[in-house]
Amino acid sequence: MIETEKLQSVAPEGAWQVCIDPACGARFEINERFYVCPGCGGLLDVALESATDTGPDRLREVWTKRLASFEPNDRSGVWRYRELLPFAADAPIVTLAEGNTPLYAAPVAAAYCGLEALTLKHQGCNPTGSFKDTGMTTAVTQAVILGARTVVCASTGNTAASLAAYAARAKLQCAILVPRGQISHNKLAQSLDYGAAVLELDGNFDDAMRVIRELAEDASIYLVNSINPFRIEGQKTVAAELLHQRGWRVPDHVVVPGGNLGNSSAFGKGFKELKDLGLIDSLPQLSVVQAEGAAPFSALFGSEADVLTPIEHPQTLATAIKIGAPVSWKKALRAVLESDGRVLSVSEQEIADAKAIIGRDGVGCEPASATTVAGIRRLVANGFIGPNADVVAVLTGHILKDTDYAINYHQDKLFTHDRAPDKTKEDRRIAGTYSNPPARVKATKAAILEGLRRHEQEHPGDLLHL
Ligand SMILES: [Zn+2]
Repeated sequence: MIETEKLQSVAPEGAWQVCIDPACGARFEINERFYVCPGCGGLLDVALESATDTGPDRLREVWTKRLASFEPNDRSGVWRYRELLPFAADAPIVTLAEGNTPLYAAPVAAAYCGLEALTLKHQGCNPTGSFKDTGMTTAVTQAVILGARTVVCASTGNTAASLAAYAARAKLQCAILVPRGQISHNKLAQSLDYGAAVLELDGNFDDAMRVIRELAEDASIYLVNSINPFRIEGQKTVAAELLHQRGWRVPDHVVVPGGNLGNSSAFGKGFKELKDLGLIDSLPQLSVVQAEGAAPFSALFGSEADVLTPIEHPQTLATAIKIGAPVSWKKALRAVLESDGRVLSVSEQEIADAKAIIGRDGVGCEPASATTVAGIRRLVANGFIGPNADVVAVLTGHILKDTDYAINYHQDKLFTHDRAPDKTKEDRRIAGTYSNPPARVKATKAAILEGLRRHEQEHPGDLLHL
């Protein structure tokens, strides 16, 4: 067994929680239990003021050596980069070997976007099938450090599934609060298996948020909602893993889906810290793609306004990014502006088609992930991304997170949730542009060969000539 490489970890004394509002800038001990700035209500950042004094060459060397180690902390694609994290060397780490997600060359998706090449970073290959795990390992570790007995979130989506799994690993009680009747099936199945208490509340989402704020006053309960700064810390290591996998070659563009914008914030923070440490000498341009019916961040970016206007009834079938009031928008805006990126939105039809195209590279993702390829296609068409650019699209969730969507698309039965009264059902149909429906054939060799011949005729290898 290869000896674990040890470097001086960032001691908690070197890490602070800092209010991101420049007019406030208040800072607090790393282990004080706040969710927002108690002074002004602003979001909190973790700042490593005495980050590792190890040089970039030594960091690269140690991180590479850890790839050959069997120690759980080295096997984790998050804790492998622990010099970037605000935890002491003896922290009670809660890990499921998260991270370590693949980079795939995607020639079909590249051609669809008008690019020479395109790389997919598939965060859906995490233990619970979404990128949330990279942030949950650090947030639940922090819950253990703070002595919490119960962890809580308000969601039935990827966050809930991930929190339930990490709470089970840490032997913490997990409460998932949701307004009644808003339970999404695929992801709920995970939370139930992981043993979480799924509590359906009488009331709407605002009621759920109010109850959560009241619960947070209890010291035995730790909130793991999307503004929790320790989630962002874990998620930012994905930037390090991505660059490590690329031999520290900085891509020209990194494109992520935009929902609550924690992911965009984390990538921005990660790239910036790697640059500050001398591991890279430039930042990739970070762009964010939203679904048209849930695009308040895109609207802000395209306007003169300097405050985000929430959308009351967000609508998209890409449920993972169906968010009208993204809490992390200030952090995400900072990251996009610092790297000269863009924010845009794409239609339900574009998302559905892009998802099917990604599938033709042998890579399955949930609908929200496909906003990236749809968005890149637009950014190439309008000249913001050149055809020879080095582009990475970040896929956030696994295809098995939403199987109904895929089956309906391929059978021409996918409809948007558009509530506009003047729209008929037919107006809301999403065309199965690249659909691949199952066919019924007789149980004979001749019928099967005929079925294959017909399938090949209807779905030639070169999709783009369809
Ligand atoms: Zn403040």
